[in-house]
Amino acid sequence: MNKIIDGKLLQQDFKKELQKKVDGIKDKLKLVVIQVDNNLSSDIYVKTKVKLCQEMGILFEYKKFDYILEDELILEIEKLNNDLSVTGILVELPLPEYINQNRVIEAISFYKDVDGLTSYNVGRLSNGIDGIIPCTALSIINILDKINMNLSGINVVIVGKSRLVGMPLIKLLLDKSATVISCNSKTKNLKKLTSLADVLIVAIGEKEFIDDTYIKKGAVVIDVGVNVINNKIYGDCNFEKMIEKCSYITPPVGGVGPLTNVMVINNLICLYNLQNNDLK
Ligand code: NAP
Repeated sequence: MNKIIDGKLLQQDFKKELQKKVDGIKDKLKLVVIQVDNNLSSDIYVKTKVKLCQEMGILFEYKKFDYILEDELILEIEKLNNDLSVTGILVELPLPEYINQNRVIEAISFYKDVDGLTSYNVGRLSNGIDGIIPCTALSIINILDKINMNLSGINVVIVGKSRLVGMPLIKLLLDKSATVISCNSKTKNLKKLTSLADVLIVAIGEKEFIDDTYIKKGAVVIDVGVNVINNKIYGDCNFEKMIEKCSYITPPVGGVGPLTNVMVINNLICLYNLQNNDLK
């Protein structure tokens, strides 16, 4: 059995399905990505989004600012909200500390909120109403589905409670009747909790923090971490040490990332449909 979850292969399948939808849309879809500051992980995410958009015939605009005042950034977003040629807006997180992240996210029209981070979309997810779901969380649910993981009644431990990954996953996994344990940097006895996991999801941003001593035999490990050190990418999990003990694992490169990118396109299509059904 192949234990390594091949995110690139999964991406190809989803991409084919989504390409048909893109080709069936009479207008050109357009994604605008905003990045402030130099974050090496964000640079990688942006590059892969550019490539995917090019391959799929989607227009892409990249607005990168080394420095921008919060009010100016919000004005930029408001312009994009009102630009009919723009289908979706994605702000790469984290933003630098001098910018109020919440204010920036809330400035994105929920009709253009590709990453599903506005209160409107978070509220819809929380209340079980269809909306835009954060791409990384969506990709993890799809990975678990593709390996035929029946989540009902099993223990899923999530390490990291960010709004992009951990928080939306809690709700998505509860909806599938999993028993969910959420951990963060203040969690006591982390190993004791992660050892209960049938599925362990790690999104903390610390190079190879989790190793084989954190899991029970046969656990499924989803490593979300992207840590760029000296131009090399490391996960939050120590892949080499864990592969023997787990039943499935995502590799640090070609794991969760490729599917997350394809979910951006999925959400862009959803936004197009929303804009055209609701606004016209
Ligand atoms: P984030 O916003 O920085 O949140 C990190 C979370 O991890 C926080 O909840 C933090 O706890 C927790 N944490 C940090 N150190 C911990 C520790 N030693 N033990 C337990 N919990 C710990 O991170 P994020 O945006 O979710 O990103 C996490 C990682 O995933 C990063 O490497 C990022 O680049 C990567 N990522 C990858 C993708 C992809 O598609 N592959 C997408 C998004 C993010 P507190 O809440 O207590 O601070």
